[in-house]
Amino acid sequence: MVQEARSLDTDILILGAGGAGLFAALHAHQASPDLSITVAVKGLLGKCGCTRMVQGGYNVALAAEDSIERHFMDTIEGGKWLPDQELAWKLVTLAVERIKELENELGCFFDRNPDGTIHQKAFAGQTFDRTVHKGDLTGIEIMNRLAEQVWARDINRLEEYRAVELIKSGDSVAGVLFIDMRSGEYVFVRARAVLLATGGGPTMYKYHTPSGDKSCDGLAMALRAGLPLRDMEMVQFHPTGLLAGTHTRMTGTVLEEGLRGAGGHLLNGAKERFMPRYDPLAERATRDFVSRAMFLELQKAPSPHGGLYISMAHLGPERVAREFKGMVERCADCGFDLAGGLVEVVPTAHYMMGGVEFAADCSTALPGLFVAGEDSGGVHGANRLGGNGVANSTVFGAVAGDAMAAWVRSQGLRAPDRAAIQAAIEQCEKPFTNSNRIDLEALREQLYETMWQKVGIVRDAAGLESALADLRGIETALASGALPDMQRAFNLTWHDWLNLVSLTQVSKVIATAALARRDSRGAHYRADFPDAGSLEQSAYSSYRHGAVAMKPVAFTRVRPGQSLLKNAA
Ligand SMILES: Cc1cc2nc3c(=O)[nH]c(=O)nc-3n(C[C@H](O)[C@H](O)[C@H](O)COP(=O)(O)OP(=O)(O)OC[C@H]3O[C@@H](n4cnc5c(N)ncnc54)[C@H](O)[C@@H]3O)c2cc1C
Repeated sequence: MVQEARSLDTDILILGAGGAGLFAALHAHQASPDLSITVAVKGLLGKCGCTRMVQGGYNVALAAEDSIERHFMDTIEGGKWLPDQELAWKLVTLAVERIKELENELGCFFDRNPDGTIHQKAFAGQTFDRTVHKGDLTGIEIMNRLAEQVWARDINRLEEYRAVELIKSGDSVAGVLFIDMRSGEYVFVRARAVLLATGGGPTMYKYHTPSGDKSCDGLAMALRAGLPLRDMEMVQFHPTGLLAGTHTRMTGTVLEEGLRGAGGHLLNGAKERFMPRYDPLAERATRDFVSRAMFLELQKAPSPHGGLYISMAHLGPERVAREFKGMVERCADCGFDLAGGLVEVVPTAHYMMGGVEFAADCSTALPGLFVAGEDSGGVHGANRLGGNGVANSTVFGAVAGDAMAAWVRSQGLRAPDRAAIQAAIEQCEKPFTNSNRIDLEALREQLYETMWQKVGIVRDAAGLESALADLRGIETALASGALPDMQRAFNLTWHDWLNLVSLTQVSKVIATAALARRDSRGAHYRADFPDAGSLEQSAYSSYRHGAVAMKPVAFTRVRPGQSLLKNAA
């Protein structure tokens, strides 16, 4: 029997409650307090997503010796000349406003220097120590304050609501179909503007850092809606994922960048420091360099669990324990002594630079649909600097909130395509109507291995072709597979099936874009095309309807070989 969807109406619908979603809600509400604003989230508001997991901190040019030009140049050079320069400029300029708003209006306490100025620490790949933080658990401070502010306002919350499809009305967005996870009921929420802020999340890799609620649902919905996705081959691996064995979900979780920034050393299985052999910046090189060097060392001399080591003891155990309290406790929970001993680590999939193409006001090619945060693509190019992620989600979340409040003034609610709602429900119902029992665990493991081995840190054409064949097989198995439990309410196996569907669809895009890029830039390394290619001819990948187009990067502010810094050589 085909299920029916219950309907709700709102003016602005925000998908996701991370830094992007909550900033959008607060800004839209501030711009027009009379609007009906609804935040719909797969988890609990304030308790899910990756903004809460931010450890290291937030990049912003505050110090007198620093400048937004310097932050911009670090972002462009770190991104290997692939970032959209107007988006990157917006990031670095508005980060200054947002950090002040976080502190002065929203109530965040960041660490300070003895003279009262905000303390800013070193992060890899940057020419200035500009990372604002609250110890090494910055995201909890930001999310707690944002959530309190949202709770204090007349903003609707739909918690444990999973968005499953963008529903159109002609060429515009009409609303979103959800599963109310608590009851299993389908709900269609009609809106005059919709924000996609579900935070990407490369959880299709064997080792990964993001929270389990992130399974690329937003990107998969955008893909099915026919929106262009850019830079999808650019998946960032964080060098220091904790390697604590296969029995624990702690494996893959991140040990923050500040450890390397503060002077931590990486050692191979023979306990020798190797990074100076690969890059003059050694452990402070960008994440792509460090992860690749680690990958190569892993082949030669792995640690007992198949990883490498991070060593901090030479900095003084007391200092490490004081400055990295959260990290020291996390390692101790898994039996490691970070302050005085060695901790096993492995590169871990951390962040997707790619995402939905968008304009500087966060609008997309689908009228009424806006995007912000890790679901969007173009700000970071081939590599995201540590500390630019939460800056990105808060800056563009706020931009989207302002833009949506302005947009809805001239827009009515639109009649949805009812057939599309029914088709989406039928798709979600497949595992209840199919008869072929499948082993989801085995399919997930297959996805993890395929992505880690063939679409990971080092790629080549043969591996990518083989990965695409594997992914098509996984997709077919999912599409014809049945689940054992027919319950709809809180059926987590069903949601696992839905997660795998999204992850497999997006994995295919990553592999296809990686096959199309025949050079090596930033996070994307092709063993069969190891050169970066001409920076002047830089092109970004744009995936739409199964095909990839390479489009020239517009150097609107600075060209390769130039700098915005006055004293640059
Ligand atoms: C361990 C870790 C440490 C990090 N440390 C740093 C750091 O120090 N500095 C830095 O700049 N960046 C860091 N990052 C990156 C940073 O967290 C992200 O770039 C940023 O927070 C993303 O914000 P967002 O709002 O786009 O997504 P998120 O904060 O991840 O929020 C996504 C939201 O979407 C919801 N959602 C997902 N799917 C659906 C769906 N189908 N329907 C409805 N809701 C959905 C989720 O539940 C969640 O609420 C770190 C990331 C991780 C994982």
